[in-house]
Amino acid sequence: SSGTRTILQRLETIPIIQSKYNIFTHVEPINKINKNLLKGSTVNNPLSNTLCAVKDNIATNDMPTTCSSSMLSNYQSPFDATVVKLLRESGTTIVGKTNMDEFAMGSLGIHSHYGPALNPLFHDVDTVSGGSSSGSAGSVTSGVVHFALGTDTGGSVRLPACYCSVLGFKGSYGRISRFGVVSFAQSLDTVGIMADNLQRVKDVFNTLDKFDKKDPTSLSEDLRNEINSISKLREKRGRAKFRIGIPKFNLSKNSVNETIRTCFIGFLDTLMKQGHEIFPVELPSMKYALPVYYTIAPSEAVSNLARYDGIRYGTRDEKEDISNESFFSSTRSKFGKEVQRRLILGNYNLISESFKNNFLKAQTLRVSLINEFDNIFSFPNVLTRNQNDDINGLDFLLSPTSVNLPKGIDEIAKEKGYDGTSSTNEYMNDLFTIPVSLAGLPALTIPAKKRAPIGIQLIGQYGDDQNVLNFAEKLV
Ligand code: GLN
Repeated sequence: SSGTRTILQRLETIPIIQSKYNIFTHVEPINKINKNLLKGSTVNNPLSNTLCAVKDNIATNDMPTTCSSSMLSNYQSPFDATVVKLLRESGTTIVGKTNMDEFAMGSLGIHSHYGPALNPLFHDVDTVSGGSSSGSAGSVTSGVVHFALGTDTGGSVRLPACYCSVLGFKGSYGRISRFGVVSFAQSLDTVGIMADNLQRVKDVFNTLDKFDKKDPTSLSEDLRNEINSISKLREKRGRAKFRIGIPKFNLSKNSVNETIRTCFIGFLDTLMKQGHEIFPVELPSMKYALPVYYTIAPSEAVSNLARYDGIRYGTRDEKEDISNESFFSSTRSKFGKEVQRRLILGNYNLISESFKNNFLKAQTLRVSLINEFDNIFSFPNVLTRNQNDDINGLDFLLSPTSVNLPKGIDEIAKEKGYDGTSSTNEYMNDLFTIPVSLAGLPALTIPAKKRAPIGIQLIGQYGDDQNVLNFAEKLV
């Protein structure tokens, strides 16, 4: 198994894995890797003597940061993202940057300037790895690294982790610093962790779960302390049986793939046998989550991607520019099709009529969804100050991670109307992950079976990250 491979064995596989699956946008030279391994081995930390891979929208001062976009193909950051800095201090060695959907927009890994990042679980047929943190998931499942960082705005860590059959964790919004992480939709963006064992996920999370004054959305020390004391109080009760809710939304036969559904039901059976209580729950706003997300995320992206004008950031197109009043249109045309589509959608949502009809409505619905989550969990939400009944509230929610199994690349290209942008099918993939992102909740996807692309998503209340990771021990 990949768990027992030596570092040397892992490093030796990089060229062949890369040529087969196109996981990396950049691989570090071997002498630099060796030097860092030596340096890392002197650090007394559970992550020393480990290899990791970092998604290519996270800034590194000694490697390119391209977001898999032709716009940034020549870009190198002058500084490290806070998460990269913390990882380097912990003694881990970064082997390279991973392939992704351009600017993290997508859920299949096929919208990259460098070509699709394929799924190493499938040897015979070129198969999608999920997105947008595609290469990060592939780097773990192929055994090249011990763990990888991705980003999750609407499911981009959980979905590829599920498709590649590894663990994928996104913490509560604000717990891990976003400083140096290229923004897509800032009210939703989080950094997430992928690994093939739970202890590793915990070690990485403990290393990164810190207040960062450089990130204005970082969760404050005060709130962190408050969350810790609530958790401690609850730990004292020492409960072994938990109350788990299953959102009824979209679990019917015709909305979820039958294999996934059967797997999920089997999982619930095991939980009940372990003595946990299962409750079907109604979250009426969940059905609006997808349209709410696709209203808010592209609108935020419009502001975040405005900086790629070829002057401040981005490769400038020399032929045509402001001189002939085309106003950057040729430079901006360097964005891939899916990014262009999102920018058009986002701008549309922000023009005056749609602002009121769509954008503001989406914000209101997002708040309703958060309140509904607050009403079912027993853990109090330290942000909204909504407090629920501790005895009757639920500890966790559980759902499948994906609606569908991963498809072959050829199969997708043949789909009706496929033009290189996402089909609505691709947007549908995030049905179970997006509501969680809108509420900023912590969630972990767990492979339902070894080396099968089926995942179970375990969700906790805002701030309850530690309990999600601890309860997961009973499930892996
Ligand atoms: N698939 C979703 C999108 O395309 C989520 C992406 C993400 O989480 N970065 O926007």
